[in-house]
Amino acid sequence: MLRIIVLLVGLVLSVSVSAKKPNFVVIFCDDLGYGDLSCFGHATIKTPNLDAMAVHGQKWTSFYVAASVCTPSRAGLMTGRLPIRNGMCSDKRSVLFPDSAGGLPQTEITIARALKQLNYATAAVGKWHLGHLPHYLPTSHGFDSYFGIPYSNDMDRVRNGKNHYENAETEDIAAYNVPLLRDEKELERPCDQRDITRRYTEEAVKFIKTSQGGRKPYFLYLAHSLPHIPLFRHKDFHGHSSAGIYGDVIEEIDWSVGKVLEQVKQSDDQTYVVFTSDNGPWLTFKTHGGSAGLLREGKGSTWEGGMREPTVMWAHPKPLAKGIVHDMGSTLDLLPTLVSLAGGKVPSDRTYDGYDLTPVLHGTGPSPRKSMFFYHGEQLFAVRHGEHKAHWFTKERYLGQKQARTHNPPLLYHLGHDPSEKHNIAKDNDEIITRLAKIADEHKATVKPVENQLETRIPKQK
Ligand code: MG
Repeated sequence: MLRIIVLLVGLVLSVSVSAKKPNFVVIFCDDLGYGDLSCFGHATIKTPNLDAMAVHGQKWTSFYVAASVCTPSRAGLMTGRLPIRNGMCSDKRSVLFPDSAGGLPQTEITIARALKQLNYATAAVGKWHLGHLPHYLPTSHGFDSYFGIPYSNDMDRVRNGKNHYENAETEDIAAYNVPLLRDEKELERPCDQRDITRRYTEEAVKFIKTSQGGRKPYFLYLAHSLPHIPLFRHKDFHGHSSAGIYGDVIEEIDWSVGKVLEQVKQSDDQTYVVFTSDNGPWLTFKTHGGSAGLLREGKGSTWEGGMREPTVMWAHPKPLAKGIVHDMGSTLDLLPTLVSLAGGKVPSDRTYDGYDLTPVLHGTGPSPRKSMFFYHGEQLFAVRHGEHKAHWFTKERYLGQKQARTHNPPLLYHLGHDPSEKHNIAKDNDEIITRLAKIADEHKATVKPVENQLETRIPKQK
């Protein structure tokens, strides 16, 4: 009898040890609005690959990012922690710039580093924006390889008397002297952005294909540089969309999603794919910026349009529990979720702001996320709990409105009844406001001061 039990235990152990861990692909856009995909209601942009992904997987309607601009949003995704905890947000400089001396501290554990400890092959392709100096690049943060533009595609500007619209029209790539890196080395400068989405896609597909032939599971982070302005697309996509140049760019990203999924389907190893974006549309750029659909405002604001993103999740060959998910989720949840799916545990030595979304993916339970904190720089502007959201401060139009407005009592909205945040219901709802204020205070008590990473600059050479 004892021998049988020992044999059975041995069998179970060997099964769990030999079972291959799932692969992960995270596709992350830059400045894509909530209303920019056809599966999220856009009337003229066509995204058939993302639509199919949503039909056969999950469309998340309340999925948030950690901040409404690039650097802090990306820091939140990569670490599962709000950027206020690692110095990756600032009231003085909203993101990292080519003259920034800081970046994501080495003390942080990225998704890549956490998965690497679980024997994953890891690759980052695309925009990084968590520090461009060698010790901050993806290869210093748990990624085996990196290919991409290390910050925003409008940086290293070379003034030529033309604006972003004209540069996009004339395809003037030299107006943005951004480098294209392979690992830590510069491959090209200025990067030819006209085929950057295509080249990112080729790199991504190559990595998936190579990994499918290897013994390790893989994690691919594919962070498109677009649709952040200036808008560039491959010549095959000129005039592709009836929505103009912005539509062309989104339809090329959708084409890219199709190529990635096509390669994922070449293997029967379980693979999870997540598609979302870093922040809402850059509304000041008119038709070169996207649309937040029915949501209010866009990039740089803590209104819903700044931080709620069109999100689709999908898996192969075993599909996710299909359907539309109205529960809350966040890019902050990706680290705990991926680590959990890989059979690991998040480190217990630090505070995490993310939750394991596995029950929602597999249809076994609701999302554990009940609250969301909306930071603008280092300040907590708003809190959502359940369907209610309170704003103590608001600021709109990224690089438009200079000063934040203070609200006392806070503005209060019911996001179920009023997802566009049009009808303030603060009057007669003191109890709800008190509850949200308590949640805000309890959260603030967990935040400890850290060194700011966005404010230090590389000394100028004389
Ligand atoms: Mg962005």
